[in-house]
Amino acid sequence: MSFNLATMLYETASAAPDEPCVIIDDTALTYAQVEEFSGLVAGNLLALGLERGAKVAVQLPNIPQFLFAYFGALRAGLVMVPLNPLLRAPEVTYHLENSDAQVLITCESFAEEAHRGASAVPGITTYVVDLGGGQRPEGSRRFDELIAPVEAPDIVPTNADDTAVLLYTSGTTGKPKGAELTHFQLYMNCSVAGDLIGFLGDDIVMAVLPLFHVFGLSSVLNAAVRFGTTMVLVPRFEPGAVIDAIERHGATIFPGVPTMYVALLNAVAAERDLTSLRVGVSGGAAIPGEVVRAFEKRFPGIVILEGYGLSETASTATFNISADQRKVLSVGKPVWGVQIRVVDTDDKPLPPGPDSVGEIVIRGHNVLKGYYKNPQATAEAMRGGWFHTGDLGYADEDGYLFIVDRKKDLVIRGGYNVYPREVEEVLYEHPAVAEVAVIGRPDETFGEEVVAVVSLTPGRQATPEELTAFCKERMAAYKYPREIRVVQELPKGPTGKILKKELR
Ligand code: AMP
Repeated sequence: MSFNLATMLYETASAAPDEPCVIIDDTALTYAQVEEFSGLVAGNLLALGLERGAKVAVQLPNIPQFLFAYFGALRAGLVMVPLNPLLRAPEVTYHLENSDAQVLITCESFAEEAHRGASAVPGITTYVVDLGGGQRPEGSRRFDELIAPVEAPDIVPTNADDTAVLLYTSGTTGKPKGAELTHFQLYMNCSVAGDLIGFLGDDIVMAVLPLFHVFGLSSVLNAAVRFGTTMVLVPRFEPGAVIDAIERHGATIFPGVPTMYVALLNAVAAERDLTSLRVGVSGGAAIPGEVVRAFEKRFPGIVILEGYGLSETASTATFNISADQRKVLSVGKPVWGVQIRVVDTDDKPLPPGPDSVGEIVIRGHNVLKGYYKNPQATAEAMRGGWFHTGDLGYADEDGYLFIVDRKKDLVIRGGYNVYPREVEEVLYEHPAVAEVAVIGRPDETFGEEVVAVVSLTPGRQATPEELTAFCKERMAAYKYPREIRVVQELPKGPTGKILKKELR
């Protein structure tokens, strides 16, 4: 079956050419314009002599050129490799070499580091988007060359199981690996998840999640284009500016990671209402029940629906589909066409119930084709035909999935399993706690000791002793943190997820 993901853009642009596709600051680009620019990129990439399946790395923040490059590469039958703009030169080199990229598209703000990284790889051409400063490293080319007038090619037919995107992820272990996601998988996932979230043509979705990450790429960008929704592009999450943008553009959908909901709650002034928002989608990490309650209380009319997924599952694997069918603290049920099991260490399925915590494994149309050039990692992850997530959880009698923690985040103290997430949920109930991460520290007596790192809500105070007492009253003795550290801010990754690795 021949199918190219770029068809989504073509279809929306044909049906609603004048509908705004993206808004950035106060400039809007219609679907017809985005389609036109991506056609030019496709034509210019093909003119370079790139052959079907060649890799084009795109290292851009959320700016319209991301869309031109993405859909341009797909339309030309090429594979798009999204990269985090914040990568340092040696990391850029690693990703370009590992992915066999032939072209790198970056922008002025990141070009120096990116081009230095690319220069270490023979045969790569770097294109730089001009953001108004007109500067680019020597030896690089202007992105404008890729949107120069050229005859736009027809969409190159690809097979549905051809790789569309190589998405780099650390997975559970080791160096970043390129998860191969196909045209069909990405199409299915944004169709199913977008439909469940309820994307409509007249919706306005905040695109604050980085588009180079699966959550932004699949559940925001692809879903918006699939359903003809307008995206407000935010290149850098800054709570005050995001609140302004929600109000100014009357945004209706907000997909974000939990730390973004916390940041918005702490930044929003009393007189702001944000009533245009009707749904918040949370994923990428567990959203504390307390944050859901506080957010929905502060902004009546919005419901936060939590989903779960990974780079390897083309984004969404489970979702809480509506206010009356959700279970707070659960990540919902598997989406259409996706099966989930909870298995023990011998890969045997476990019965439902909170006492049956095991590894979550997934099968379905959304599961990656494999890790690029890494059959060993693929075989390891795909044991028995199921993708092993490295996440621990359980299902309840109604089929709702609960993520208990990452396998590697589990703390084993004196032989007892302590799930950091459980301790974090308790600390979030304390009014002075803004954010918290619980980790294990090696300990001679207990093997590991439970440590909580906390940042405080602006204007509130709490001492470590007070927080320890708060925990002691609410949990078994073997679980409560023996050390609580108060810090200014917790380290975060590109999507805003808290980086426990750095805390350790
Ligand atoms: P990534 O591949 O960067 O999207 O990271 C995937 C990981 O994020 C999963 O393996 C989970 O550990 C975590 N994750 C995603 N969604 C959730 C969620 N709703 N609750 C808890 N963890 C989540």
